[in-house]
Amino acid sequence: MSNCVIVGINWGDEGKGRMVDLLTERYDLVVRYQGGGNAGHTVINDKGKFALHLLPSGVFRPGVMNVLGNGVALDPENLMKEIADVRAKGVEISPENFRISDRASLLLPWHRELDALEEARLADRQYGSTKQGIAPFYSDKYQKKTVLAGELFYPEELREHLSELLMWKNLTLTKVYGAEAYTMEMLDQWLADYCEKIRPFVCDTGTLLREAQKSGKSILFEAQLGALRDLDFGIYPYTTSSNTLAAYVPIGSGLPSAKIDEVIGVVKAYSTCVGEGPFVCEMFGEEAEKLREAGAEYGAKTGRARRVGPIDLVATRYGVEVQGATEIALTKLDVLSYMDRIPVCTKYRIGGKETDCFPFPTELEKAEPVIEYMDGWKCDISGVREFSELPKAAQDYVEMIEKAVGCPISYVSVGAERESIICICSKPR
Ligand code: GDP
Ligand code: MG
Repeated sequence: MSNCVIVGINWGDEGKGRMVDLLTERYDLVVRYQGGGNAGHTVINDKGKFALHLLPSGVFRPGVMNVLGNGVALDPENLMKEIADVRAKGVEISPENFRISDRASLLLPWHRELDALEEARLADRQYGSTKQGIAPFYSDKYQKKTVLAGELFYPEELREHLSELLMWKNLTLTKVYGAEAYTMEMLDQWLADYCEKIRPFVCDTGTLLREAQKSGKSILFEAQLGALRDLDFGIYPYTTSSNTLAAYVPIGSGLPSAKIDEVIGVVKAYSTCVGEGPFVCEMFGEEAEKLREAGAEYGAKTGRARRVGPIDLVATRYGVEVQGATEIALTKLDVLSYMDRIPVCTKYRIGGKETDCFPFPTELEKAEPVIEYMDGWKCDISGVREFSELPKAAQDYVEMIEKAVGCPISYVSVGAERESIICICSKPR
């Protein structure tokens, strides 16, 4: 029995979904512990191509139980739409393979609207929200102004609770933002259309996980976004509103006593970032356009063009440290195959001084990248399955990253499909 968490080391979209899909083979349960429908985890396997938002990426494996923990932002409307999409492609979703924690808070209909209203108020100072209501949701959760999924089993009390919240939230909607008020009829409709449908999946997943742990089952925890978007340790305020770090697993999954044996940090072979905020290694112009095209860097949730740059060793080393990564999965190495020489951000220059420490957010705004180059390999590596068969320049690139960030690289992916992976667990170091 061993537990593992798959986390992002950078700004998100590192390829966590494909790693979870690959590794679920070895686990009995897959648990999402934070974040919400703003995620986009792309999985390509024998069932097709999927962009998962809230569903754990273990739903494709028969016999795996998938759980949404109490730490997630549970949007019943988006979840039901996602379940319908996945079912339409022949993937079974039932309480046999999918459960929702009764302690997960519900993202209420006004959260998405408040997200959009606040971004509109900020105008050109926006945070670059995906407008899925995540920030208003987590603010309300910590203010204790939302409802728990388990309340769906107590309809009378739930309606009373919702009408209380409705009165409170309408003050903000109408008096702060000048928006329309919500009505109880609207909430009744939402309850009937979506909440009724998620109810069969809701249960005491804490007991389920504790029993799984006692009976020696293995659990894989799946993160959303990456270390640099962690609310407490990321590039605040351009973070997300939850903790993306492995350290949050025991709380957000609903298994406070969880012992995590392995932390697999997913690192992309270059950098991408969606939304606003300092992104020191950012490339622009034609160079950026080429990399964006080569990596198909458009958001799975929003379709937005992702900002791109070379691998950032300063940020990646920090990400590895705060995640406590025990090993790394390096993804999308194949994307760099077109480059004559490969740029690498090795340090930051701040106020004329070079540093390899990831700075405080205010300093980050002033940082410039120090770029060095490595040789490219200029050939198709997507069919390679053994580390030793990679061109020497590609091996050197992988080993350089491993050394720079101080963590062993156990997987290198060279294509988006499940099997496009090199396992180098036994690589001599
Ligand atoms: P996540 O949010 O961390 O799960 O990552 P996303 O799914 O949002 O973004 C990763 C993207 O890269 C997806 O479109 C994947 O299909 C794709 N991808 C993952 N691994 C590889 C790889 O090794 N090579 C290529 N070319 N694409 C990959
Ligand atoms: Mg993503």
